[in-house]
Amino acid sequence: MEMDTLAALCKRRGFLFSSSEIYGGLNGFWDYGPLGVELKRNIREAWWRDMVTSHNELEPPPGAPSAYAMVGLDSTIIMHPQVWKCSGHYDLFCDLMVDCRESKRRYRYDQVYGRWVEYQGRKIFAATEAMGQEAEQDTLQKALRFFNLRNKDADELQWLGPIEPLSHVQNMEQVLGPDAKTLGTLTPPRMFNLMFETYIGPLQDEASKSFLRPETAQGIFVNFKNVLDSSRVKIPFGIAQIGKSFRNEITPRYFTFRSREFEQMEIEFFCHPSVSRAWYEYWRNRRFQWYIGLGLSSERLRLREHSPEELSHYSCGTADIEYAFPFLPPGEFGELEGIAHRGDFDLRSHMEGKLVRQGDQLVVELDEEGKPRYRGSGRDLTYFDEETREKYIPHVVEPSAGADRAALAFLCEAYAEDEAPDEHGKPQKRVVLRLHPRLAPIKAAVFPLVRKDGMPEIAREIYAQLKPRWNVFYDEKGAVGRRYRRQDEIGTPYCITVDGQTLQDGTVTIRDRDTLRQWRVHQKEIAAQLEDLLC
Ligand code: ATP
Repeated sequence: MEMDTLAALCKRRGFLFSSSEIYGGLNGFWDYGPLGVELKRNIREAWWRDMVTSHNELEPPPGAPSAYAMVGLDSTIIMHPQVWKCSGHYDLFCDLMVDCRESKRRYRYDQVYGRWVEYQGRKIFAATEAMGQEAEQDTLQKALRFFNLRNKDADELQWLGPIEPLSHVQNMEQVLGPDAKTLGTLTPPRMFNLMFETYIGPLQDEASKSFLRPETAQGIFVNFKNVLDSSRVKIPFGIAQIGKSFRNEITPRYFTFRSREFEQMEIEFFCHPSVSRAWYEYWRNRRFQWYIGLGLSSERLRLREHSPEELSHYSCGTADIEYAFPFLPPGEFGELEGIAHRGDFDLRSHMEGKLVRQGDQLVVELDEEGKPRYRGSGRDLTYFDEETREKYIPHVVEPSAGADRAALAFLCEAYAEDEAPDEHGKPQKRVVLRLHPRLAPIKAAVFPLVRKDGMPEIAREIYAQLKPRWNVFYDEKGAVGRRYRRQDEIGTPYCITVDGQTLQDGTVTIRDRDTLRQWRVHQKEIAAQLEDLLC
């Protein structure tokens, strides 16, 4: 499936629109249309239900080291600026970027690649933002244009090595930027903080400067003591939160994959340091299974354990759940969720101040005068175990998922083109979204076969009966085959049709979107059937 095909479907059927589209759109921002909002709500609700409200804290789930509790939280988007200073985001949540003086475009340093090429003794590094085979093509075209050559003269170019990152290049004067026509227009790399800044109150000065959160996690850490004191939870337990996060990404792209405003679903799971590794393994597997259970079952989904060199200094394990999105070059995967063992880093930073690594220790970072560079809250964020009489800073395991990336992966996986018979039994091409029933925006559509003989009246009655329970849809216009196909295209798992036989014996047909099987059910049993089918 081409990504453009899915993007067109999303726009046409009201899943996703570019934000502020009537003004030309806003790069990195997306609106969810009437169907998209239902899909995303269903993802959030499935996550909240599966992780929080339906969790039984009395029994250990399969694979868990013990039973545990789960509670929820909804913290603010703007928090005390000190939160971001102590968490490290203020100094470290940066990407290296390069600017192009000619095209005025800005690129992420780690996302620019290129190839050395020589022609008549002149050597240049042709740079591109594309990847894989596209990068080869792109650099070739750039080099041809730069040296004023035609396609048929491509053999005259001498390539001096494979595609490599821009960071390998010493002399920026030899670089032909991704959108430039002349050499040496890219600036040296500079740090760029990804947090959006804002001001609290009427004055716009340093003291009122604040940030939109780049992750929801910090709201959980700063409320750790509040939750502990108010809800009688005992370690081990997790706090879950769903909410908007904001990152001023340098190059938002790939549809909603890298947006500047997006939604996260995060859990901070607090446990005793001696069992944190086992909890990390539990959450890693549990979260992977969650995606499989909701239909991401293909070989496009994988769990990738980070190598020891990739790990943060305080972590003994991080794994990414990744999906081979169709917009990525073959063999490349994009992150859906990260599960990180974070040790006691976060609670300690909010207690003592921003931490840095010294040898294999984490210590509070000091300024020139030997005072903490960023003071912590000074609050006691330790945990006291009443039974063992032990006081300690809990370790944290963090499964951090993106609701928008999950929605995109579910859509990519669900998209299929096949054939279904029309009303005359002739095979017709159709587009179908094979979304899991829990995620489908509309759960069932109700149709009268024709608009006469009392069929619409019965269909409307059925619709009215089901509507309070489920998001069902009523449609009586056009040929029934066309109506089926319109529902297939948006992922509606079942269609209920009132026909001539309904008038005689009160039965209707139910049609399954995926198998195309149709069976008859008495009108009175539709709700019970849907109950079974939709879980
Ligand atoms: P990436 O490396 O792709 O930028 P990340 O490692 O910075 O992602 P985390 O900080 O681990 O991401 O955030 C947790 C989750 O939040 C990600 O797995 C992803 O699902 C989601 N997420 C992060 N950044 C974005 C974004 N710009 N747009 C949409 N979702 C995002």
